[in-house]
Amino acid sequence: MSVLVVGSVALDSIETPFGVSKETVGGSATYIAAAASYFVTPIRLVGIVGGDFPQRGHAFLEDRKIDLEGLEVVEGGKTFRWAGRYHYDLNERDTLSTELNVFETFDPKIPEKYRKSRVVCLGNIDPVLQLRVLDQIEKPRVVVCDTMNYWIERKNAELRETLKQINVVILNDSEARLLSREPNLITAGRVIRGLGPSVVIIKKGEHGALLLTDQVVFSAPAYPMENIFDPTGAGDSFAGGFVGWLARTDDMSEENLKRAVIYGSTLASFCVEKFGVEGLADLTYLQIQDRFREFRELSRFEED
Ligand code: AMP
Repeated sequence: MSVLVVGSVALDSIETPFGVSKETVGGSATYIAAAASYFVTPIRLVGIVGGDFPQRGHAFLEDRKIDLEGLEVVEGGKTFRWAGRYHYDLNERDTLSTELNVFETFDPKIPEKYRKSRVVCLGNIDPVLQLRVLDQIEKPRVVVCDTMNYWIERKNAELRETLKQINVVILNDSEARLLSREPNLITAGRVIRGLGPSVVIIKKGEHGALLLTDQVVFSAPAYPMENIFDPTGAGDSFAGGFVGWLARTDDMSEENLKRAVIYGSTLASFCVEKFGVEGLADLTYLQIQDRFREFRELSRFEED
């Protein structure tokens, strides 16, 4: 099934306890599309960059066979920039700056050939733009949406409008609490399902993820890692692995949603092993399969 990804394409400046990188290629759409590209190709990307977006950024996306017809380049404009610092506890991150730049006037135009995309993944951008994208798509089979505290706080009413049209929402635990105003994650999931999406996925950083539907509470373990260099993009890689698997299999059953969550966790685990998008640059499907199987062993035990 065809996959359309919409989101930010960015230049990120990141500080972790292990190193610093300046203006590295990032953005929600970049990570989602790169992760999903291991399951289906080409992934269609809609986003915007300035004329300053470097050649290495275009090359990375092209190498992953991502269709860039929907990537608008504003000559003379400045690419979206984000800067973040991770604490010693890598689950804790401070946003140092967000410069919207070309995003301030972004009006997503979905190319004609993308309009029948079956799977749509709305990366973390202004919920007003997310809705504008959906208005241009003809009957998608599944719409997955990511968001973050920045939008929950600044565009709450607009986000609630968007959520009415979403099948699957992916957020992290603190975002789920912020959106639902519920401290308990199971309750938060139920409240968020009441806003529209029938499936809620709550990511818990290095503690795994919860898949919540009206029938299922599935707790996916996190992959135990000793070498986490840079958690940036983990959430987006999760979303990319998740939608990639759904698109590859065209199966929305609850058992397959569970597999998709594990594929999401698998891609996130590869992402954080290296700085920026490097961890998603040249994996093999075999590596992904091997790690997917390791997840099963993580929580398998004998009854007696
Ligand atoms: P993640 O670590 O998966 O939550 O996502 C990190 C990516 O999100 C970075 O590459 C940033 O460029 C991008 N990002 C951060 N803040 C925003 C925002 N307000 N809007 C769009 N993208 C953002």
